[in-house]
Amino acid sequence: MNEFELIDRFFAGAATDARVGIGDDAAIVQPSPGCDLHLAVDAMVSGRHFFADADPRGLGHKALAVNLSDMAAMGATPRWALLSLALPAVDQAWLTAFAEGFFALARRYGVSLVGGDTTAGPLTLSVTIAGETRRGAGLLRSAATVGDDVWVSGSLGLAALALHCYQADDLLPPPEVLARCRLKMHQPEPRVDLGRALVGLAHAAIDVSDGFLADLGHILSCSGVGAEVWLDALPTDPWLGERRQALAAMIAAGGDDYELCFTAPVAVRDAIGALSGLCPVSRVGRIVAGGGVRLLAADGQVIELGRTGFDHFQS
Ligand code: ADP
Ligand code: MG
Repeated sequence: MNEFELIDRFFAGAATDARVGIGDDAAIVQPSPGCDLHLAVDAMVSGRHFFADADPRGLGHKALAVNLSDMAAMGATPRWALLSLALPAVDQAWLTAFAEGFFALARRYGVSLVGGDTTAGPLTLSVTIAGETRRGAGLLRSAATVGDDVWVSGSLGLAALALHCYQADDLLPPPEVLARCRLKMHQPEPRVDLGRALVGLAHAAIDVSDGFLADLGHILSCSGVGAEVWLDALPTDPWLGERRQALAAMIAAGGDDYELCFTAPVAVRDAIGALSGLCPVSRVGRIVAGGGVRLLAADGQVIELGRTGFDHFQS
């Protein structure tokens, strides 16, 4: 099978709203009138972002999901995607499953695959995504304001626990907990609907991919403000919640959550609470003057998440 047969067979079939999609030198798309175009790209490299033998259906899902998560963080409606693949070999079963995972998620969010690139090389999956918001309505990292509530969607720390359990055997969650965590690691659900609903309500937003505290830190530095965050308020799996003190670093600083962290004025607290029909949202802290984030225990003590004291995670 040559390169063009491969593209035709696995990637060219799906319906698209592009004026010109796969098959010419570039795609042509028509953004909606009065909208800003949001562009992002995220690559996933074998051995760095995923195990070489990872389930290909999950990889197809995740390669798109991490990009949809970037659109969600801007409050944008995702519309078009480009897929750049480096493949060590043409494995038809692998490609079939990868494409299934990719297109199942793309269909759910109305995203058209309009082009890409295919080469031989070490397995690398790179998706470029384009989405829209009404002009000027995109949620920025720089818009947090002193007095805002800090919110986070879904639950934190599950993917980090799953990863930890692949690498070490000092934590032994029951099988059903591990299954939930692995699903979260391999098939994160991008918070696209929540992100869109936050336009006009939230001030700043970011998606949580490198760890909640690190990503909140980007909002703080971009906005020139600080935050306090309450450890007890961070949403997580009940199993992790029972070990909240010992596994604080996993919950507050573990990676790969693909949740949204956002800030919003107190006046819209109820309106944001009402969005929990889309996905759970938790109020976890507040924006204060100054800089940096202070993680607080129930008794008001500041928790330092240094390497010491959190060996379970920091191995
Ligand atoms: P070019 O030589 O101009 O780079 P290619 O031969 O790489 O074009 O690709 C031919 C067409 O197939 C283009 O429209 C391109 O966007 C599309 N394409 C290539 N690889 C993929 C892929 N993995 N997924 C979707 N479309 C692809
Ligand atoms: Mg090309």
